[in-house]
Amino acid sequence: MADMQLLAASGAETAAQIAAGEVSADEVLDFWLSRAANDRLNGYLWKSGPESAREGGAPGGPLSGVPIAIKDIFCTEGVPTTAASRILGGYVPPYTATSVSKTAAAGMPMLGKTNMDEFAMGSSNENSAYGACLNPWDTERVPGGSSGGSAAVVAGGLAPWALGTDTGGSIRQPAGFCGIVGLKPTYGAISRYGMIAFASSLDQCGPLTRNVTDAALLLEVLQGRDEMDTTSVGIEGGIKAPTAERLDGMTFGVPRGLIGEGIEAGVLARFEDTLIRIAELGGEIVDIELPHAGHAISAYYVLAPAEASTNLSRYDGVRYGLRSSDEDLLSMYELTREEGFGPEVKRRIMLGTYALSSGYYDAYYGRAQKVRTRIVEDFDSAFAKVDFVVTPTSPTVAFRLGEKTADPWTMYLSDVFTVPISLAGIPAISIPAGLAEPDGGGPELPVGFQIAAPAFSEQKLIEASHALEQAIGFDGSAALEGGAR
Ligand code: GLN
Repeated sequence: MADMQLLAASGAETAAQIAAGEVSADEVLDFWLSRAANDRLNGYLWKSGPESAREGGAPGGPLSGVPIAIKDIFCTEGVPTTAASRILGGYVPPYTATSVSKTAAAGMPMLGKTNMDEFAMGSSNENSAYGACLNPWDTERVPGGSSGGSAAVVAGGLAPWALGTDTGGSIRQPAGFCGIVGLKPTYGAISRYGMIAFASSLDQCGPLTRNVTDAALLLEVLQGRDEMDTTSVGIEGGIKAPTAERLDGMTFGVPRGLIGEGIEAGVLARFEDTLIRIAELGGEIVDIELPHAGHAISAYYVLAPAEASTNLSRYDGVRYGLRSSDEDLLSMYELTREEGFGPEVKRRIMLGTYALSSGYYDAYYGRAQKVRTRIVEDFDSAFAKVDFVVTPTSPTVAFRLGEKTADPWTMYLSDVFTVPISLAGIPAISIPAGLAEPDGGGPELPVGFQIAAPAFSEQKLIEASHALEQAIGFDGSAALEGGAR
């Protein structure tokens, strides 16, 4: 089969070609390994060799032979796992994350481990200790984060699909920036076992794919109860490939109060176009309010760092990766953490430790938890009136490398539309809604459209997204060849 055909095929199409005997699994794997070997985006931190990749995928599975890229936050037995941190340099886990085991059991060889923001803290992939990852649409721009590597390798044709994680937007925002589909499932839909913890009450695994059908197929492989993660429950009835073409009888709530200042004109224009498309497909647009969602970023930047400060206390030079000094125990702890963690991670540890310290606990952590409850209630009231809540995925298109690194707060605002959903624990998807110029001009870049739904209603969310995706007809081929040298 011609290289262009292999490159253009989605995950589902590749699986079908292999099953029909039009191409062999070996040919598919060799093609993708050579694409990954020529990565010019710094999308991969570790790449499989032909033998290790072949071993990974069990034959005979439903998606047998379709290779997958894995965010380097998932532990992989015998394969280095760094979470893009120096402190995990040299760490080779003795076990494999449930999500990765499930993709292997479904027959998917692992292409490699993808770049990310250190410990998934960031919105641009610039916090990686191993260098920034580049956006295949414009290599002077960021791919988004923290799953920037996973988004870039899918959009840039270095993998058919990938796994990422989303704590406050890390699947949806990079998917939006790179013109692909990113799905964050309901908290608890997928096991977190073996996923390096950032903020455990928010972290969820999810797929980054070329289209909604691929997202559905991967979600079906990933979802389920896992006795290794007591917070995992799975999705009742499982997930099927979507077939919907219309949106008749479905209502879409628009939180106008949240979609105000700070949004680029081009992003807003594609958002409004998409609302018109929804109406053309028979869907109804309704104005709604999420009165507390405006406080989501503030609450998130207390809660997520608080959980992170606890989760990251385990990196002390004793058990994992880097050990900076052997002089005495205390100096080993201090130096290892001083040299091992990057600036954003240190900022979060300090914020979180402060917020949890006695005397401040009620004022910060306790209050942020109350805000979180209010946001959950906001979505409950919204879903009493509408089936879905829609927003742009991010207020801007992909920004330039270095543009926001000096000011953490503007970086944090990248997630104003994704974080409320994470705090509520509900599922949301980002689908490409077209291209737009950044404010100030420049070549056109992808814009994401976010759809959120009630907990565990992923099938409905996927059906609606599929209908809308067909009507939008987004073409991502302009970036597809550009990822490889
Ligand atoms: N950008 C957000 C943060 O830095 C979200 C990251 C994520 O979802 N992992 O925390």
